[in-house]
Amino acid sequence: MQARPASNPVPDTVLVSSPPDTGRRRLLAPEPGWVTTADVVVVGSGVAGLTAALHAATALGPRRGSVLLVTKVLVDDGSTRWAQGGVAAALAPDDSPEQHLRDTLEAGVGVCDPAAVRVLCSEGPARLRELAALGASFDRERSGELSLAREGGHSRDRIVHAGGDATGAEVQRALVAAVRAHPAIRLVEHALVLDLLRSTDGAAAGVTLHVLGAGTQDGVGAVHARAVVLATGGMGQIFSSTTNPPVATGDGIALALRAGADVADLEFVQFHPTALYLGPGSSGQQPLISEAMRGEGAFLVDAAGRRVLTPDLHPLADLAPRDVVSKAIYERLRERDEDHVFLDARSLGQSHILNRFPNIVGRCRAAGIDPVTQLIPVAPAAHYASGGVRTDLHGRTSVPGLYACGEVACTGVHGANRLASNSLLEGLVFSARIGRDLEQALPPPAEPERPAGPAALLHPSVREELGRVMSLGAGVVRSKSSLAATADALDGLAERTSDAPGPAAWEATGLHTVATAMVAVATRREETRGAHWREDHPDASPAWRGSLVTTTAGITFEPSGAP
Ligand SMILES: Cc1cc2nc3c(=O)[nH]c(=O)nc-3n(C[C@H](O)[C@H](O)[C@H](O)COP(=O)(O)OP(=O)(O)OC[C@H]3O[C@@H](n4cnc5c(N)ncnc54)[C@H](O)[C@@H]3O)c2cc1C
Repeated sequence: MQARPASNPVPDTVLVSSPPDTGRRRLLAPEPGWVTTADVVVVGSGVAGLTAALHAATALGPRRGSVLLVTKVLVDDGSTRWAQGGVAAALAPDDSPEQHLRDTLEAGVGVCDPAAVRVLCSEGPARLRELAALGASFDRERSGELSLAREGGHSRDRIVHAGGDATGAEVQRALVAAVRAHPAIRLVEHALVLDLLRSTDGAAAGVTLHVLGAGTQDGVGAVHARAVVLATGGMGQIFSSTTNPPVATGDGIALALRAGADVADLEFVQFHPTALYLGPGSSGQQPLISEAMRGEGAFLVDAAGRRVLTPDLHPLADLAPRDVVSKAIYERLRERDEDHVFLDARSLGQSHILNRFPNIVGRCRAAGIDPVTQLIPVAPAAHYASGGVRTDLHGRTSVPGLYACGEVACTGVHGANRLASNSLLEGLVFSARIGRDLEQALPPPAEPERPAGPAALLHPSVREELGRVMSLGAGVVRSKSSLAATADALDGLAERTSDAPGPAAWEATGLHTVATAMVAVATRREETRGAHWREDHPDASPAWRGSLVTTTAGITFEPSGAP
């Protein structure tokens, strides 16, 4: 790990167990058949990758082709365009970065890195204004000021939104337009990154990738680059029911684990309390019902009409942090032996619902529910990975020349639970910092070594079974026995190997690597904290106030400096 700033001294670390054993160092794939070069290769085209590419290109100057942005399928297939609620930033006269910091630390329950949270909250407003200047059209009041909403866990109105509940789509649109217009950025779609290439001294020197292309750059090839930025988004697809799109298969985390980069806080997966319930057994990406609806007055009830959240459960009731709401729903469902509760938004009134939440209305109506007159059936679904590839305040990982930003990264801002609408903001703030770091410290070109070490490949059929066992034993609620059963099931799935490389097999192998690492740390953390709920250890323990970090040496525990 490169040096952390003095403001956040890392206390002594303790080795708590050996690394989760997948034995994988690279994916089984054909030898690269072609090579291209760039100064910087950015992997992923959501808010983080697009922002990193723009800032890197600006930092490195106008030379054509200095930044190569590669993305697995189409440019807007990631989570970013699905974001509804908005981007949090302390802009209101009664708000301040300090207040935003306090709310973020509270949601993170003692695991955040306060220095990273300070960066997020203090630099956020400037990054948001830059995005508006770039052309993102956010909703405004009649006065012309940005319209600010409130969401769960925020003590002030500070959520900037666009098109009512279509914020992510507007952020994605504006950034893609800027990237396409930038002469120094080359964008390649249908380019699935496989593994990190390294120089003889171990630094990142590019990636191997599979491109569905035309001409010479088709099939498996290599990008030789002086720095690699991972911006591959989340890992929601390790669960059977998630709000994440199909591309969110945790590829960047799996790549980092294979490359020996440190990964932290993987056990803290946030389950969104209110995904639209589409019926028993529905799997894959589920439509999200934004908590902005609860911010505007909607509330949760069970099938008997009884409120799910009450002030004695949490002072913010329906606006409590997501883990509190998900747990309250889960308890109620268990008590009543049901599989969904309801969101009652009817009191918001027809015109407000239609104007403020046009997307949600569209998705509900497509499922045969009219939120203007009917209760909306909802249930928790995997939503956000608070952990990921560990970085310092400049986006650097423990592998020199390898950076990470956005949901794939663990900057330390989310701790044990992400505060709503802090993730788009994190993508904006820390990706911009990577650009600045590259300006100062772009490594010299180095010749990559041939990829080596044990290669692995699992059969694509692993994916469906993996989601099922993960949701069953490592989902909203976990215990020693449920995690042991999940680990056994994952061991069984590891036997299903394949010798036929291709995108589905590569994704299945990555999902298995991430799930195995996640179950290992969730087993170690014998307490309930934030998004990690252990039935057999229902309380938070001061001894576990810190991060579990998966390193090549094993899983270490680092006490946190957070209040
Ligand atoms: C339904 C929904 C609603 C949300 N609402 C909000 C909200 O209101 N506010 C908020 O702050 N956050 C919200 N979030 C979270 C937020 O959208 C994400 O955390 C954020 O967009 C992640 O951005 P990213 O750039 O890191 O990843 P993404 O936007 O997911 O982009 C990842 C990119 O990496 C690519 N990729 C993945 N693997 C590979 C590979 N192997 N090779 C090449 N490319 C690869 C993907 O195709 C994609 O282009 C929401 C998320 C969802 C799913």
